[in-house]
Amino acid sequence: MTLARRPHGTQPAPSTRLTSSAQAPAALPPPAGRGPLQRMLAQFNNVLIYVLLGAAAITALLGHMVDSGVIAGVVVINALIGFVQEGKAERALDAIRAMLPFQAQVLREGRREELDARQLVPGDIVFLASGDRVPADLRLLDVHNLRIEEAALTGESVPADKQVAPVDSAAALGDRACMAYSGTLVACGQGTGLVVATGAATEIGRISAMLDAVEPLATPLLRQLALFSRRLTLVTLLFAGFAFAFGTLVHDYSAAEMFLAAVGLAVALIPEGLPAIMTIALAIGVERMARRNAIIRRLHAVETLGSVTVICTDKTGTLTRNEMTVRRVLAAQADFVVSGVGYAPRGGFALDGAEASPAQHPVLAGIARAALLCNDAALARAGDAWCLAGDPTEGALVSFALKAGLSEHAERAALPRVDAIPFESEHRFMATLHHDHAGGHDIFLKGAPEAVIALCQWQLDGGGQRPLDAAAWQRRMEGAAAGGLRLLAVAHRRVPALAELRMDTVTAGQFTLLGVLGLEDPPRDEAVAAVARCRAAGIRIKMITGDHLATARAIGEQVGLALPLSACTGAELAGLDDAGFAAAAAANDVFARASPEDKLRLVTALQERGEVIAMTGDGVNDAPALKQADVGVAMGAKGTEAAKESAEMVLADDNFATITAAIEEGRGVYDNIRKAIVFILPTNGGEAGMLLVAIMLGLTMPITPVQILWINMVTAVTLALALAFEATELGVMARPPRDPAAPVLTGFLVWRIALVTTLMVAGGMGMFLWELRQGASLEAARCAAVNAIVIGEIVYLFNVRRLSAPALGRGALAGSRSAFAAVAVLVVLQLLFTYLPAMQQLFGTAPPGAGAWLRIAGFGIVLFAVVELEKAWLRRAGG
Ligand code: ATP
Repeated sequence: MTLARRPHGTQPAPSTRLTSSAQAPAALPPPAGRGPLQRMLAQFNNVLIYVLLGAAAITALLGHMVDSGVIAGVVVINALIGFVQEGKAERALDAIRAMLPFQAQVLREGRREELDARQLVPGDIVFLASGDRVPADLRLLDVHNLRIEEAALTGESVPADKQVAPVDSAAALGDRACMAYSGTLVACGQGTGLVVATGAATEIGRISAMLDAVEPLATPLLRQLALFSRRLTLVTLLFAGFAFAFGTLVHDYSAAEMFLAAVGLAVALIPEGLPAIMTIALAIGVERMARRNAIIRRLHAVETLGSVTVICTDKTGTLTRNEMTVRRVLAAQADFVVSGVGYAPRGGFALDGAEASPAQHPVLAGIARAALLCNDAALARAGDAWCLAGDPTEGALVSFALKAGLSEHAERAALPRVDAIPFESEHRFMATLHHDHAGGHDIFLKGAPEAVIALCQWQLDGGGQRPLDAAAWQRRMEGAAAGGLRLLAVAHRRVPALAELRMDTVTAGQFTLLGVLGLEDPPRDEAVAAVARCRAAGIRIKMITGDHLATARAIGEQVGLALPLSACTGAELAGLDDAGFAAAAAANDVFARASPEDKLRLVTALQERGEVIAMTGDGVNDAPALKQADVGVAMGAKGTEAAKESAEMVLADDNFATITAAIEEGRGVYDNIRKAIVFILPTNGGEAGMLLVAIMLGLTMPITPVQILWINMVTAVTLALALAFEATELGVMARPPRDPAAPVLTGFLVWRIALVTTLMVAGGMGMFLWELRQGASLEAARCAAVNAIVIGEIVYLFNVRRLSAPALGRGALAGSRSAFAAVAVLVVLQLLFTYLPAMQQLFGTAPPGAGAWLRIAGFGIVLFAVVELEKAWLRRAGG
């Protein structure tokens, strides 16, 4: 591979790399995270925990050492569980971050290769293109319109122009125009540089700036929960104060007795386990998404994904396979059909149904030469397969040129490239300048037909030049594009002596159109199914593509975007005022020949209409739209580093179906979090309700603070945790997206919590009073009440696994392994609590009799049946 252009005065690139054993490792040292001690202490940094610790201290002062010890013990155990689980969640997220490798294009053994940037060593030659992150500190050898955004290093947000001429050795970092620094982003242009420092030895390594700061485990939902905790603490203190006053003033309880009851109330109302469970549910969601190729870069995306209403997607590579093959060659007088599969240069040409050999049709070789020389891709044979290095569109052109009988090496040797203007989606063409060995200078141009034809005055016709018949070409191209073919025109111009290629030389026109190529890029099979699933899930899909209107429309129809499908072009949008634009953004399904600016305007317009947008992108210019979208989705394989850094999620396989999978998982995570809340709160409500009833009626306390803590802790670490692991319900993609403004606790959920709380209070209190009336000891009656609540929780877990669908019945128990395992563990714990003498002493319990167990079981059945009846009633009412 030759370098695009070597400036005067630079030395040829060294062909061997330095392999000094003293060189710095190429990876930056990882940013310092929180230490284990800090993480452990953070577990206690929570108002609810302060309340519990305060309660433990005062209980101790009052001489109730056992109670105080149990409260403190539970706080510590809870912190330990939180610590271990959060540590696991953080490790899982770190592992997922590491799944995003950072690739660099280098020249090794004379060949261009892509490798992990951590393998770079000083002396390597690195290629830079727009959107790349600079992989090491580089001395630039060659630049073409290269501008680099160095904000990470210098704080300067305007991209710096780069050059190859040396600068003063004392120049400040921001003025060293002949250098490119690790971690900065290529805003535009191309360049080549020699690695001078890697890893910690780079400028960014020296100031040890974190490129990818570790994101705290905080999401809107977790913040909402933190607010809820603070409010709950206030309510708890108010309730406890009220109970204390009421008990001492109205019922003549002693202050010490009432204080214990108030502590019990505080302990009852606090859902200690909830924050850890929510974090775990999120982390599990992130892991599940990663398993389905969706890599989450920012945790809040997990929640947002569940409420996406519109997906704005690219076409090429996302909905289509991005495996291009040239199928048609339109020359002025002939329309060739090309055979062959993939990139393998095996296949031939047909004209009007008959085989056509390239030797008889020299026009084919002319078109192929332009397509081969104005090209940066390389095809290599690996056994039977052909591998592509570079852009798939260009790979297809190389394969076509080989089919047309050209030799890559001979053509490049005969017409060496002197300069190039790379393809950018703004101007939609690529141009190269070549010098032959007889003093001739040629420019080859290839690109979107509109862009290329606008620069052509003639067409190649029967071996000679004729004036261009643009209308005739337009008609023929419409026909090819309507079949879904991607079109690319190639043109040529001979110029007088020219040393470098400037944009104005190309845009001056005067080209001769050689022909138009039709490339096939079939839709991905899984995209068709995924589009149908999104539509069933109430999500609209809009395809925004740089491709031709007819091509985009045909592909849109093939994947089933909408029926009927409405399409428009970027040029049509440009003429609209804001109101017209907003209407067009909402009405159309396909936006063809759209620019990155159109993408940004579309996202903003749709968001103003209240839509929640997931937007895909790959180029450096897509970054603003990705940032603006609610969920920016970057392509892992073909996307630039700039796009990935602006995105919330990266698709490892660039596949549309992966977005659908992530949305499904996102809806599932949100469901599980809601289920955990709806599960945990009635336990707290039930316990607090029992105490309040007892205080109001002047009765003995039905459960003690330590018993309450026991219930909260064991049910949280078994049953509630099982909910975080629940598989996503089958029907999640059959319902419309969630309203992002709606609170976590909808009216329906508050009703459900109130209903179950009432049942719990009735069951627990009823059991306690019944046992006492039957002559059981206070300890046995309390033990029966505790077991009633726990059994209530066990059956309620199965109610909650399906928020509105029946808990039993076809497929309902599928995936309930973690639920059953949690129940098994809990049963063992409850047996220990009830029958182990040490536990009896610690918790003040005595085993209930066989009759009590029967009544407890009966309560469980009633609770289960009532919730299922409520569900059936709500389903019938359409709730
Ligand atoms: P999408 O935005 O869905 O990925 P796209 O890949 O077709 O669509 P662009 O990459 O902007 O969008 O390409 C637009 C047009 O530019 C193509 O239809 C093709 O005609 C032309 N084109 C694409 N790649 C090249 C290239 N490497 N050199 C020259 N022209 C190209």
